[in-house]
Amino acid sequence: MALWGRRSKYELPADWEATVGGSVAWWFDFTPEERARLRDLMVRLLGEKRWEAARGFDLTEEMRLVIAAQAALLVLELDFSAYRKVGNIIVHPTTIVLEGERASASAAGLATDEPMAILGQAAHEGGPIVLVWDETVRNARHPERGFNVVFHEFAHKIDMLDGVVDGTPPLATREQAQRWVEVCTKEFEDLRAGYGSDLLRDYAGVNAGEFFAVVTEVFFDRGADLRADRPDLYAVLADFYRQDPASRERATR
Ligand SMILES: [Zn+2]
Repeated sequence: MALWGRRSKYELPADWEATVGGSVAWWFDFTPEERARLRDLMVRLLGEKRWEAARGFDLTEEMRLVIAAQAALLVLELDFSAYRKVGNIIVHPTTIVLEGERASASAAGLATDEPMAILGQAAHEGGPIVLVWDETVRNARHPERGFNVVFHEFAHKIDMLDGVVDGTPPLATREQAQRWVEVCTKEFEDLRAGYGSDLLRDYAGVNAGEFFAVVTEVFFDRGADLRADRPDLYAVLADFYRQDPASRERATR
């Protein structure tokens, strides 16, 4: 479908920045120029993507703003088309428990019917992004913990741009791609072998796609720690996202 003529009609409320700044701890770490570009990305996310509430849930404008602000950060130095695989965004109030048989997240190729609590999902290329509001706002308020469900699920959509969820987003040059695979494969194997970075939770070892999503969370939330602990990994992420969060002045910390 052509995007031609689908210009966003969404208009931000007058107090949008106070709302975002009230919940997103890092918002004012960015310069006015960067915040203006984040705002433009938010307008597109809010106007061009389909936002849905889980049944019975009141998805407020404040919630959508706080989610969109976080999603905008990943593509601040990329193009908005990096989100062309993002369709519906479905928001639930709190942790969702999945029931019924499905592929196991912890054992590749095995099926499971254990109930599983999830905070977000972006499982299929054409499928929705599912987010849990209480976790989403907790992550926005506490980046120092290095968990961010919005970064995680939107990173999966970026990973899907080339048609496969393999932990490798589309990279500009062959050299970049080689370096990416070399560095990420080493870190992933270290993690699987039990001596990976302490900054990366075990879930990053499930598969290469989860590795990329989890590393993205840590890169944006704890960039300085990641750079100190795993400089090569930090460098390939910085190269891809074209951002250097470790060097950003932290106005709020
Ligand atoms: Zn994931």
